[in-house]
Amino acid sequence: MRRGRLLLFWDVDTQWGADRSRSGGGPKAWGALDFEHTELLLEAHARHGVPACFAVVGAAALPGERPYHDPAQVRRIHALGHEVASHSHRHDWLPGLSPRALRETLRASKQALEDCIGAPVTAFVPPWNRPVDYPAGWSFSLSERREAGRERVHLGALCEALAEAGYRFCRVSYRPMHVRLLQRLLRRRLDRPARLEAIRGVACVRLNTPGGFDGPAQAMLRRCATEGGLVVAYGHPHSVRGGGSQDLAHLEAFLREAARLRDEGRLEATLPARLLPAPVEAN
Ligand SMILES: [Zn+2]
Repeated sequence: MRRGRLLLFWDVDTQWGADRSRSGGGPKAWGALDFEHTELLLEAHARHGVPACFAVVGAAALPGERPYHDPAQVRRIHALGHEVASHSHRHDWLPGLSPRALRETLRASKQALEDCIGAPVTAFVPPWNRPVDYPAGWSFSLSERREAGRERVHLGALCEALAEAGYRFCRVSYRPMHVRLLQRLLRRRLDRPARLEAIRGVACVRLNTPGGFDGPAQAMLRRCATEGGLVVAYGHPHSVRGGGSQDLAHLEAFLREAARLRDEGRLEATLPARLLPAPVEAN
């Protein structure tokens, strides 16, 4: 039996993300819920002694009021032992950014978060889990290519810019073409315990749960506790009272199971910064 490891992420979009919603109907009004529900999440994580990585848009750490800002809450997340990662500066759709705009959102976000918490921010979580276009990894996104045009930012270019800006970790979700074809054929996700993978000098880890904390995420938790490898799970604070896969009830069961496996010595709840230094050469 090998010991598994858990990386649990919260993507904290705030109203910056709600204003840029890409789902039907344009801008949404749920920004304030990200702050309100984060309080519930901090309690839940403390109850089970399981840390999380909160990927926050940098602009939320600047002075100002909810639903756009709450630097005091970002500081509290850090003070409670969780990791603060960057989720870009204003929840930007990265594939469509110019090289200069990409570097600017990475830089501004890191600076705002580091100034806020007084500690280094080295992990990055791309909004909407994009880009997934990554020719070197046999992953091609027609929608990103159509929408972003010739100068699109693919995953390799993102990682190169991340390394330049001083980031060392990135959560990714690209899938090689043959895996996507097989998934379509089988009509289910083909997930397996994740490993760190270096892309242009950045330690990357691929999502291996569909989002949320219900059946599939709990199954991956148990699988990694048996086979070893990383469970990579995530949710959005604004969604934890919606009754879906990210609901607090599922989170509670997930955290309880993680704590049980940890107490049995089969699982370690970890954070991106604790996985570094990682392999830095490849691709
Ligand atoms: Zn997001």
